[in-house]
Amino acid sequence: MEVDAELRARYEGVVSSIDAAAQNAGRSREDLTLIVVTKFHPASLVRELHSLGVQHIGENRHQDAEPKAGELVDLPLTWHFVGQLQSNKARAVTEYCRVIHSLDRSSLLRALDRAEAPVEVFLEVNLTDDPGRGGAEPAQLPDLAERVLASDHLTLRGVMAVAPRDEEPRRAFARLREHSEVVRRIAPEAVEISAGMSGDFADAIAEGATHLRIGTAITGNRPSDR
Ligand SMILES: *Cc1c(COP(=O)(O)O)cnc(C)c1O
Repeated sequence: MEVDAELRARYEGVVSSIDAAAQNAGRSREDLTLIVVTKFHPASLVRELHSLGVQHIGENRHQDAEPKAGELVDLPLTWHFVGQLQSNKARAVTEYCRVIHSLDRSSLLRALDRAEAPVEVFLEVNLTDDPGRGGAEPAQLPDLAERVLASDHLTLRGVMAVAPRDEEPRRAFARLREHSEVVRRIAPEAVEISAGMSGDFADAIAEGATHLRIGTAITGNRPSDR
């Protein structure tokens, strides 16, 4: 399939920046999973990304993601839900997303568990002082981790966060790493860290991120950011 030359160049540029950041951090490239966040972009762009070798796609709105995933069922892609998720959409999202990065409260946990589909989850942590932002308060992590462990359908992969806007990202990701250690004391297999976006993935890699969620640096500007 024909791939847009600029898309290819941006993708290759990001991949080599990831390689360089991994090397600087003394980490193995195999430990890093690149999720390309394609929100607001059409299914055709996801198809182009797949032909470049992308296997993991991230979306943040169910009403946009569901038809896109439906159009692309012929591709062996893993879909990741990275946005805030309402409990009443939990079941529908698990029908096409294998991984949910935004589990941040017990009501959502119960809804995902009731869906009875096997789902892998990250506990999203709020790294800001603003309780209105997405993510659980760090103090809630042990309880959430225990509840995921007690569920039959959910597998705990680790922790997730978005760096606050008003802080050096590396410092915020260092705190995320500490939160990861707290969760691992309860769930030793939950070793993954979902962190790093277009502007801060090198900092995230330096602080142990395993799952990078990168949008615009690869896709270009979003058609209509809402
Ligand atoms: C949009 C989004 C991303 C990707 O952001 P970019 O800055 O475009 O790389 C990553 N994570 C979440 C939760 C997002 O909503």
